[in-house]
Amino acid sequence: MGRTVRDGLRLTAEQQQFVELARDFAAREIRPRARAVDEADTESPLDVWEKAAELGLTSFMIPEKFGGGGVGDLLTQVLIQQELCHGDIGIGNLITSNGFFSAPIEHLGTPEQQERFLGPLATGSPLTAVAVTEPGSGSDAASIRTSARRAGDEYVLNGRKTWISNAPYAEHFVIFATTDPAKRAKGVTAFVVPRDSPGLAVGPPFPKMGQRAIVNAEVFLDDVRVPAENRLGEEGQGFAGLMRTFDASRILIGAATTGLARAALDFANEYARERTQFGVPIIQHQAVAFRLADMATRVDTSHLLTVRAATLYDGGHPVTQESAMAKLVGSENAMWCTHAAVQTLGGYGYSREYPVERWMRDAKLEEIEEGTSDIQRLVISRGLGAR
Ligand SMILES: Cc1cc2nc3c(=O)[nH]c(=O)nc-3n(C[C@H](O)[C@H](O)[C@H](O)COP(=O)(O)OP(=O)(O)OC[C@H]3O[C@@H](n4cnc5c(N)ncnc54)[C@H](O)[C@@H]3O)c2cc1C
Repeated sequence: MGRTVRDGLRLTAEQQQFVELARDFAAREIRPRARAVDEADTESPLDVWEKAAELGLTSFMIPEKFGGGGVGDLLTQVLIQQELCHGDIGIGNLITSNGFFSAPIEHLGTPEQQERFLGPLATGSPLTAVAVTEPGSGSDAASIRTSARRAGDEYVLNGRKTWISNAPYAEHFVIFATTDPAKRAKGVTAFVVPRDSPGLAVGPPFPKMGQRAIVNAEVFLDDVRVPAENRLGEEGQGFAGLMRTFDASRILIGAATTGLARAALDFANEYARERTQFGVPIIQHQAVAFRLADMATRVDTSHLLTVRAATLYDGGHPVTQESAMAKLVGSENAMWCTHAAVQTLGGYGYSREYPVERWMRDAKLEEIEEGTSDIQRLVISRGLGAR
């Protein structure tokens, strides 16, 4: 197709190497497995994850001093994420999912905690999870009810988390609880909780619409005793740590959805050049060509917003609005482009023989997780006064 993430960017030699590694891995190991993973529904492809781990693709975001790849800048992470998710967004997100766990530890943890919890991610294979959402608390994360009560040099956690990605496999969880629900955001506190903690139980996997490479489940906390040394930051600092985590992770969702939208464009473009109706390839019908033009424009819009947000982030600027825009536009463009790809393939687009219906299902998640599109608009509109 000739389209690459280099559009408009001058990559360093190191960035170029990472992009090529991720692109090659996506084509060789991710794309060929995607359909079977979708059909399996509630099983993560751990063998693909392990192959990615051997190449450093699961740990490039972990600081070098803990044995990770030490790709400190978000822009490079964005470029890698886009390539992996061009292969398949569910598997791509699985491969980099430990970045979501490591971020609050980097933002809130002491050097000792960082070494203790991030070191194993850099060298080995444990999967991890982050648990914020509860049955009664989603968009309004400050309303969580999972309680953390101090008892000597421990905390006792009680509550129920839902929709937790990687819960069936995670060896460690970052769990957000409240020391005082009346304080809302100022009561939220984060803890690293080992899976084998007595009282912690994981429910059965949720069957779901798409992105089935990542398995979701509930997490039950029944008098789980957590040493105070596993608390990240001070009591009440958890919410701010979560928001800082979202500043980066929403940019990465922008990258993931750009990769997915680009996959849909590439597939539809190729198909439209081969499929003949009324005696000509369908791309020669202007309606089809214009739809592809709109897809290409949306892919580049997503890409540029993501690159802008990552560049600002790397420069140390506040990016809450820019990050929300990258996620909002990326996810809505991925939804639009995958829908357009299905339309371009006609009846074949509706068949599970072709990937585009799966990509449409996969895209939908990104308008929901880590803050719905409504919440991104809320964040962007709240920032308007300060511009
Ligand atoms: C596949 C998947 C993976 C996930 N992984 C994780 C995970 O690993 N860890 C974790 O903690 N959570 C996870 N989540 C949870 C996810 O972050 C929440 O589902 C999401 O934040 C929305 O919360 P909710 O589902 O409770 O919806 P609600 O908050 O109940 O929202 C319902 C609707 O109301 C709208 N709405 C709510 N408030 C407002 C408002 N103020 N203004 C305008 N509209 C509003 C929303 O936009 C939405 O359309 C995951 C979810 C899914 C589906």
